[in-house]
Amino acid sequence: MNSRSAAADSQPRRFRQLIAGEWVEAEGGRSFEDMNPFDDRVFALVPSASGADAQRAIDAAHQAFPAWAAMGARARQALFLKAADILERRADEVVRLMAEETGSAAPFSRFQVQWAIGLLRQAAGYPYLPGGEIVQSDTPGVFAMALRKPLGVIGGISPWNGSLALGFRTVVAPLACGNTVVLKPSEEAPFCAGLLMGEVMTEAGFPPGVLNVVTHGPGDVGPIADRLFESPKVRAYNFTGSSATGSMLAARAGKHLKRIALELGGYNPMIVLKDADLDYSVDTAIFAAFFHQGQICMNTRKILVERPLFEEFLGRFVKRARAIEAGDPSDPANKIGPLINDRAVTAVSRAIEQAVQAGARVLAGGQCEGRCFQPTVLVDVPPQAPIHCEEVFGPVVIVEPFDTEEEALERANGTAFGLSASVMTADVWKGIALGGRIQSGMVNVNGPTMGGEPQIPFGGVKDSGWARFGRWAIEMFTDLNLVTVSQDKRRYPL
Ligand code: NAD
Repeated sequence: MNSRSAAADSQPRRFRQLIAGEWVEAEGGRSFEDMNPFDDRVFALVPSASGADAQRAIDAAHQAFPAWAAMGARARQALFLKAADILERRADEVVRLMAEETGSAAPFSRFQVQWAIGLLRQAAGYPYLPGGEIVQSDTPGVFAMALRKPLGVIGGISPWNGSLALGFRTVVAPLACGNTVVLKPSEEAPFCAGLLMGEVMTEAGFPPGVLNVVTHGPGDVGPIADRLFESPKVRAYNFTGSSATGSMLAARAGKHLKRIALELGGYNPMIVLKDADLDYSVDTAIFAAFFHQGQICMNTRKILVERPLFEEFLGRFVKRARAIEAGDPSDPANKIGPLINDRAVTAVSRAIEQAVQAGARVLAGGQCEGRCFQPTVLVDVPPQAPIHCEEVFGPVVIVEPFDTEEEALERANGTAFGLSASVMTADVWKGIALGGRIQSGMVNVNGPTMGGEPQIPFGGVKDSGWARFGRWAIEMFTDLNLVTVSQDKRRYPL
């Protein structure tokens, strides 16, 4: 059954998955309840795909690949531009749906919509970028070309937290490079991180099979992952999620010598030097620590403040943190909403408890109502508490004083992660020099650890992964093929 939308006409909403251009039920009609994290209402019934469903999606993507890879640049560009217009038209509806499915409050959802529109419009230019280069040959009369070619079918695996932006990021660059995609969104956001991409691309006119979306409920990823990772038709992966999952999937991809783009977790430090603008540093830290209730890979997890500024910074920061109320993300008055599920609430509560047992003090928050966790500020967190260097995906931040820049650097780098960092200072050159010594894929001087526009080389180092987005993604999702032409007859030693 084909239509423009994943939704069948029923109550509660009932979605179908996208395979070979058709909106279809899962094999055997299996589905699961996709819940609203704020009020536990059923957001939608979503197909729970089998391995056979995933295989049909892989086969469809494989079949669609040659024609899609051969499509002219103008035709491909037009599709991405149309998709951007469709998303722009649906912006208000999508913001409402993200609140219901993922607990994202309006400011973060609107950011994601604008970001994804920008991504689609920028990727529309990729088909026109140079498709390779001429290489000098040492052999007279030989003309050598290094040509960029798409890889084939890409397996896309998206997270729930920045559902819309990251769902689109998982598919857009691979598609713009001429690949076809099977997207498997997170079980926590199968619509906003998956089926919605299918709806937008289908309406824009992407040919059947170019983008396929298969969904699954909690605990049911196994058979889909098996097909995606074992099939020789899938040539590479685009993964965004936790470092633990990324590490495990990198091993699976490596077993078959396939490449995998990894965008993983972070433990992002903010260093506030004593010459920094105090008001602006507090504003920046509040936003960076608590936006989207601390569920963004780039949220600040540790604030290091040079001692002369520490007490004043801490006082103001705690006051501001206590004033933030988490609530229903569908209410535009609320700037932050609930955590995604009970496991997240337990993980955040446990991390705070462990820190307190080890000697930490809670200066703000520490409590939750339903799944709405109050912004939490910890001080005196000893190194043995896991939260001292491990990512806890919620609104919890540590504040520590430091005396020397070397000490700040050592603590900023004292984690296995390396995604994003920030340095606040009146001396920009000092900020650049210090920032350059932080082991991190991205450093912002006088800005939050969070940021990211579609065109930047977004990505981390160490346990935060190795992918780079923006136009650098083209290197991840294409092969470089050498073609030579001998213009004269060559002489051989045999
Ligand atoms: P997760 O690792 O639990 O899940 C990510 C995706 O992997 C989901 O689609 C999930 O279904 C899938 N997955 C889980 N187990 C799998 C398996 N065995 N086989 C195949 N797929 C499997 O992460 P999450 O909770 O969805 O996202 C939060 C994490 O992602 C945080 O650590 C956050 O920092 C990170 N993140 C990183 C970035 C980035 O760009 N660096 C962006 C967003 C989130």
